[in-house]
Amino acid sequence: MNIKAPRGTKDILPEEAVSWQNIEKIALELFTSAGVKEIRTPIIEDTNLFERGVGDTTDIVNKEMYTFEKGDRSLTLRPENTAGVVRAYLEHGMFRISPPVKLWYKGPMFRYENPQAGRQRQFHQIGMEIFGEKKPTADAEAISLAVQFLNRLGLNDLTIEINSLGCDECRKKFREKLKFVLKPYLPQLCEDCQTRFEKNPLRILDCKNENCNKIFESISEQKDWNKIDLCPECLDHFNTLKDYLRALDIKYVENPNLVRGLDYYTRTVFEIKSFNLGSQNAVCGGGRYDNLVSLMGGDNTPAVGWAMGVERLNSLLPQKTEELLDYFVVSTDSKEAIKLVNLLRNKGKSAEFDFSGRKFTKQLEKASKVAKKAIILGEDEISNGYLTVKDLSTSEQIKTDINNL
Ligand code: ATP
Ligand code: MG
Repeated sequence: MNIKAPRGTKDILPEEAVSWQNIEKIALELFTSAGVKEIRTPIIEDTNLFERGVGDTTDIVNKEMYTFEKGDRSLTLRPENTAGVVRAYLEHGMFRISPPVKLWYKGPMFRYENPQAGRQRQFHQIGMEIFGEKKPTADAEAISLAVQFLNRLGLNDLTIEINSLGCDECRKKFREKLKFVLKPYLPQLCEDCQTRFEKNPLRILDCKNENCNKIFESISEQKDWNKIDLCPECLDHFNTLKDYLRALDIKYVENPNLVRGLDYYTRTVFEIKSFNLGSQNAVCGGGRYDNLVSLMGGDNTPAVGWAMGVERLNSLLPQKTEELLDYFVVSTDSKEAIKLVNLLRNKGKSAEFDFSGRKFTKQLEKASKVAKKAIILGEDEISNGYLTVKDLSTSEQIKTDINNL
């Protein structure tokens, strides 16, 4: 048998899991300190949820979903978690909670992509959503939590790119402007962009095709062709957000080409990048999605959120090493040894013992790799009711009893 993990998936082995635990621990601490509650939604959802909630002009829905039939249902492995969180928010009447409702999640997502560095088919995200506040205060809180999270992990060399896509009216005008400018170049653009031109011209700005990008650069000389003209309300929203970010000492860069890959964004969009990562340098993406909740059948509910890729995050961080156990019990009497480790664990200490009862020297060798101290439980110790404790870093040895540990 030579079965391997499916292409685009990875085992997270014990040595690497330590770093994942650290990332998740810091997320839990930060979100708890900010009143953000954890939510866990199913990994499988109704396919319609993503068609509606992510948008049927996106790559995710058009090309990347893992969809299967069961009975007369079409189900899909979640490619992202915002749609699922919005579904749960509505299904459980969380709109009755006094706003804002702040939720966070962590877990695996699935996209049928071309696997490469920083891009897998099963990958993990940590993300958060804020429901019920349309003021830029919520956008600032969301961005600030993302930055604080990265800082607490030890990442300070970040570029925070922001843009505003405006409201429905602003985007409508912008689409017309884009189509007008791009029309003469249409035959030269890639196939995807030709479809986008009719279905969702904004997405053209997000194109990764080199040739398209060259064309865009050549039109850049026509002043501001790719810049959205915001209505007074949207402009005020964006300016206030920037004011808050400056007050928080968060350095940002405005990127007029930032449109993000999902259909549902309105007004604020942002991306956090790190330049240690090669070509897939985005660790966090997010934005405001004021239309999504009503699109999914709820009342008009403004919302803002973000998601981070845990694999990409992890690859930026120095790897954590496993912590040593408090004690390793060295004994040839496994019954006495298992009794002692049980007692130690109940006292809140971490402890392991050797199952085989092999020679002390072999057991001590293992002990020095995994624990801070060895407790030696030989015949004399057992019959006279004491313990010999050896500090494995100094080799210092003392006699004591269980109550003095
Ligand atoms: P990209 O432009 O890199 O494809 P995206 O816009 O599709 O990213 P989002 O859907 O906003 O990304 O997801 C947020 C974050 O999740 C990304 O910034 C990235 O860190 C991570 N991510 C997205 N897709 C993958 C993937 N296939 N493998 C690993 N991480 C991913
Ligand atoms: Mg993508």
